[in-house]
Amino acid sequence: MKLSEEMKNKTLLSFELFPPKTEKGLQNLPGTIDHLMKYNPSYISCTYGAGGGNVGANREVCQMIKNAGTTPVTHFTVIKNTKEGIKEQLDQYLADGVDHMLALRGDIPLGETTTCGDFDYATDLVKFVRDTYGDKFEIAVAGSPEGHISCRSLESDIAVLKQKQDNGADYIMTQLCWDMEQFKYWLDAIRKAGITMPVDVGVMPILDQAATINMALSRNGCVMDRELSRMISRHWLFPNPFAAKDAEGKPFDVFYDKKVAEFKEEGIEYTVKQIDAYRALGVNGIHLYALNKWKDVSEIIDRSGLCTLV
Ligand code: FAD
Repeated sequence: MKLSEEMKNKTLLSFELFPPKTEKGLQNLPGTIDHLMKYNPSYISCTYGAGGGNVGANREVCQMIKNAGTTPVTHFTVIKNTKEGIKEQLDQYLADGVDHMLALRGDIPLGETTTCGDFDYATDLVKFVRDTYGDKFEIAVAGSPEGHISCRSLESDIAVLKQKQDNGADYIMTQLCWDMEQFKYWLDAIRKAGITMPVDVGVMPILDQAATINMALSRNGCVMDRELSRMISRHWLFPNPFAAKDAEGKPFDVFYDKKVAEFKEEGIEYTVKQIDAYRALGVNGIHLYALNKWKDVSEIIDRSGLCTLV
């Protein structure tokens, strides 16, 4: 059954992994996946380096996911990809037995103004995949509850999401959003705009100050709610989270270990509360960015209402 069909009947739990950069990381990944499989995820997705830089590792990770016994969903972007190149890669995925994808534009490369490929937007990719492959792929698309960082307006971004649906997309995976009022507003607005696709909510566990700030501000321009901002301030690493250690890796801050541990503990609690709030809104899926860290993710699932999905 398609994931988008399953989501209509129950809230699905899924994870997101990234292809490790080192050989050792790649060797450790099957163990991580085995731990995550304990939670019986409906699928595990794997990120795709814009420009296809890590496509080999991405295919390897998709195979690991398949071998572990769940559905692999590959992310895929149009950055620096020609039509022929896209077809060649998608043929390979199908030959590997990977027939679920998250169709993305990808981030415009630094210093460029275009995707440097044949397609400008994710809508073009969705149409191309449907025209070329019919129903062979199940297609997820990105949705941004606060509006994509470079969109003209929230309304225009929602119109783009509707176009993705009209071009044949099956369900939405959301960008992280900590602002629950905004999320509720967006959910209501997309339904009013005729978007009926299930909504699978992307949740980034709050575990590390620098990663949280980086993900929110440098990439996505997401609002941090007061509780999260206060949490970061309370455990602020001296002189700042990005330069808290010297060249030898020794922390400047005498309270470093204590602050890191306390921040992570509060971050896990914050993430658990966020998941509960999303579920209370009746979303169709919780997609946890597992960050290749099974221990912290297990802690979040064990403490949250997600246990009831297991
Ligand atoms: P689009 O939907 O194409 O939108 C991009 C921008 O263009 C938006 O502002 C939109 O409003 C505007 N737009 C779209 N169509 C039109 C049009 N026809 N005319 C005018 N404006 C238009 N990136 C990676 O590189 N690898 C990954 O693995 C990856 N995984 C992700 C997973 C999730 C769940 C999410 C939410 C994002 C992920 N990203 C990933 C990031 C994503 O590639 C970026 O957010 C990217 O900048 C936009 O991709 P998109 O598919 O949302 O683009």
